Amino acid sequence: MSLEEYRTKRAFEKTPEPKGKEQTGAKSRFVVQKHQARHLHYDFRLEMAGVLKSWAVPKGMPLEPGIKRLAVQVEDHPIEYIDFAGKVPEGEYGAGTVEIWDKGEFKLDWEEPDQLGITLTGKKLSGSYVLIHTGGKNWLVIKRKTKQE
Ligand code: MN
Repeated sequence: MSLEEYRTKRAFEKTPEPKGKEQTGAKSRFVVQKHQARHLHYDFRLEMAGVLKSWAVPKGMPLEPGIKRLAVQVEDHPIEYIDFAGKVPEGEYGAGTVEIWDKGEFKLDWEEPDQLGITLTGKKLSGSYVLIHTGGKNWLVIKRKTKQE
């Protein structure tokens, strides 16, 4: 049921995006997709519970410790979306180009109702991050200091 909102927003006969199905027992991967829509943003997605938990990060993921970025939670996306890059046609939901900015694996360090602690291992992003729910759909994503830094 988790992908219902994702599907109702899209006309799959018109957009090349995957319709998707919920999957279970998946590995823990993440992706950041650079989405040049009406407003440029970066979609951060974590493979969790058979779907991609998703946030739109207007200014992009923080690369330095201590930097906070707004991350707006959006509808869960299907696992197959992790590989999606291409053009969403004009007039369709999220029209514009999607490219994969970074991808890799993550470890869930802790999970609380309003907080996720994760360690990312990607090409551009690596290290500990925390996602903090601040209300409504709004979260903050913060890169944490690690021992090496
Ligand atoms: Mn987007």
